[in-house]
Amino acid sequence: MKNSILEQLSLQGKTALIVGGNRGLGLAIAKAFAEMGANISIAARDDKTNRNAADEIKEQYGSECIVHSCDVTDEENVKETVSKTAEHFGKIDILVNSAGINIRGKIDELSVSEFNKVQEVNVTGSWLACREVVPIMKKNGYGRIINIGSMLSLTAIPERTPYATSKGAILQLTRSLGIELAKEGITVNAILPGPFATELNLPLLENPEKYKDFISKIPMGRWAEPHEIGPLALYLASPASGFVTGAGFSIDGGWIAQ
Ligand code: NDP
Repeated sequence: MKNSILEQLSLQGKTALIVGGNRGLGLAIAKAFAEMGANISIAARDDKTNRNAADEIKEQYGSECIVHSCDVTDEENVKETVSKTAEHFGKIDILVNSAGINIRGKIDELSVSEFNKVQEVNVTGSWLACREVVPIMKKNGYGRIINIGSMLSLTAIPERTPYATSKGAILQLTRSLGIELAKEGITVNAILPGPFATELNLPLLENPEKYKDFISKIPMGRWAEPHEIGPLALYLASPASGFVTGAGFSIDGGWIAQ
């Protein structure tokens, strides 16, 4: 007999590792999962922000939240984060890859190291976290992996060559891994956000001209608030989405549809 819809969306007893979960979209997703009963493990570089995020989650939802100082460009850091999370909670049911950076600029003003840095964090970092959690999920015969792509996984805007390249790759990573794991009880999907008001977008949010220009291109005529990503992430993280894999989900105020 199938469970009720609410039961299918519950994360009670599940463990979620959120890489890049100490602020922005990652933190909003961590909070949504905590509210639905998950134990949370947050990994990012800044210890103070990590601790603040964990305190907020514990206070607001009473969930257990552990943190790891982790730079996703460091293979050992990622391995340790995954093994400590699995050791502490006994398993990892959900992985969210939300660590990301953006270096904007005209191609002839960017260095190779700037281009590579964006790929290392956004692409290699996500791939690495997937590689480390997959054996644990395979052993349990269950897993939910969510990669955070972007509307720039599907479309482009100028002066974003490093970022758009990386986000196109995230969607392909998601598709390839999704079908690789399709018979293992593990799903792999991508969320493709449009403009959300987070630190990542401070250069746009703080520049009145760029801000106005951006708003004029969003069919809904506004930026999204970080919490608006929570319910979509919850669906993809929960048992409810068992037949969904290798897919990208836009949440962009209509940007891609135009
Ligand atoms: P924020 O800048 O608010 O957060 C970025 C997160 O990534 C932080 O937790 C940061 O923590 C972490 N991070 C950055 N570099 C590293 C690293 N080398 N190792 C580990 N963690 C790292 O950005 P958002 O929350 O907005 O972005 C989250 C994801 O969503 C990104 O992949 C982004 O590309 C994507 N996205 C965001 C959109 C938006 O409009 N905001 C739109 C489309 C996609 P710390 O600095 O402590 O390491």
